[in-house]
Amino acid sequence: MLARLRFPVERSRGRRYPETAHPYRNAFQRDRDRVVHARAFRRLEAKTQVFAPGLSDHFRNRLTHTIEVAQIARTVANVLGLDEDLTEALALAHDIGHPPFAHAGEEELNRQMERFGDRFDHNLHALRIVESFEQRYARFPGLNLTFEVREGIVKHSRDFGPGEFPEFDAYLPGLRPVLEAQLIDLADEVAYNTADLDDAFSAGMLSAEQVAECVPQYRAIHEAVETQYPGATERERFNEGLRQLIDGLVSGLIEGVVENARQSGAAGAEEVRECPRRIAAFTEEAAVTSRALKRFLHARVYSAPALGQGRRRSMAMIADLFRFFLDRPDRLPQPYSARTLAEPPHRVICDYIAGMTDAFCQRTFEQTVGPAGA
Ligand code: MG
Repeated sequence: MLARLRFPVERSRGRRYPETAHPYRNAFQRDRDRVVHARAFRRLEAKTQVFAPGLSDHFRNRLTHTIEVAQIARTVANVLGLDEDLTEALALAHDIGHPPFAHAGEEELNRQMERFGDRFDHNLHALRIVESFEQRYARFPGLNLTFEVREGIVKHSRDFGPGEFPEFDAYLPGLRPVLEAQLIDLADEVAYNTADLDDAFSAGMLSAEQVAECVPQYRAIHEAVETQYPGATERERFNEGLRQLIDGLVSGLIEGVVENARQSGAAGAEEVRECPRRIAAFTEEAAVTSRALKRFLHARVYSAPALGQGRRRSMAMIADLFRFFLDRPDRLPQPYSARTLAEPPHRVICDYIAGMTDAFCQRTFEQTVGPAGA
């Protein structure tokens, strides 16, 4: 449908360190494989998405969430005739810069950095992971990904103008990312809204009726499912409804992109970049549903006392750890302690903590600030 807007792999701006071509994998396929083999990718398994593990074995973690985003994004890319490999590489990398303990961790790290007039930005952290922290090659630091994948990482969930983020000046400020990259934010939105409903249902925090009251598109689905499967269990009926909801949102995304592409008049991948706004968008109906889902989840799930306690505990842990290493940079492991001699310690400490899994953060806390460190 939109094959004319597909970003052609042969037009890639390439890698920072030139490499010879692979006999049977193109540049974007190799990027995808590099992300899958990265240590930061494997650590996603032990990072909280929304619900901390323990209560259930079935909650998403950041790795399974990432796989769901990749599945949705690839489906959309495939239907539209866009590059599935580039889309998949970007989807798999989209959360690689997330710190431990989900948004609580991100907020606290940012708060600590603000005391130094600095900030924590998970897109910037992701770029630094793929550019330098991953050490897998003898010839260069990082994963040496193509320009388009790095650009997609820094433009995840926002575009920026010239000078707005000086660290990203090499990544075409003022221009949109390629259409494959634009899909990721919306595939992410479909994946987390519906997955969070599912996990919250499992946690006993909501019922299908409550979702139906607040989300018009789901109300119609819910009523049809209730009539169609009167003998099914509540869980089975909720699963049926959720699946139709995902389907509706994904279809709304596909139709929205097609319609927007038509209106934009863009005739090729380079023109996608020049558009004043992103081409990837939901249809009006899917956008309304997505906003209603977010409002519902904020009110019933994200701000629920059941999650608040864990959030406060993780934030306090990160704050204590941060202060501990500021006082005792010698207790940082190599190469972090060596880096504090050349770089501001708060930056090095932030990088160290941001890379941690939840469990590693907890363990480090116990060995330093906690009783075991005394
Ligand atoms: Mg995500």
